[in-house]
Amino acid sequence: MKLNKIFRLASLLSRCIEKSTTQKKHVAAVIDNGKIHCIRPNNPGVHAEFLSFSNFSNYKNNKSKKNCKILLVIRFENGMFKNSKPCKECIEKLKHHVKKIIYSTGDICNPFVCEKLEDLKNNWQSNLVKKIKDRVYMK
Ligand SMILES: [Zn+2]
Repeated sequence: MKLNKIFRLASLLSRCIEKSTTQKKHVAAVIDNGKIHCIRPNNPGVHAEFLSFSNFSNYKNNKSKKNCKILLVIRFENGMFKNSKPCKECIEKLKHHVKKIIYSTGDICNPFVCEKLEDLKNNWQSNLVKKIKDRVYMK
């Protein structure tokens, strides 16, 4: 996808950023046949890319998960795109159903990256996941 098209779609998503009720505001959407579907902000504890895909996959058929080609996820704060690379859990959950992911990087020289989800690596876990794991270890 060309950068100017990504910018156009990402700007559309950024208009929904205030619907996120968390401090770190992300929005994701499924791009299917050049059209945008299921724009979803993150909720406390649930990441935007997962919400958007879940909504899309159940959109037409509740029984079988529908795969999608492209998922776009952004973080947007103070009028700027920030790093929105998917976390380890989202990569694991989505890699068999989503082909590519485009995410904002927060790097002005290279503001968006498009990667195959199965090739993507991120050891970063969200605070929530860490908290849950700490609690489990404490028992
Ligand atoms: Zn995530």
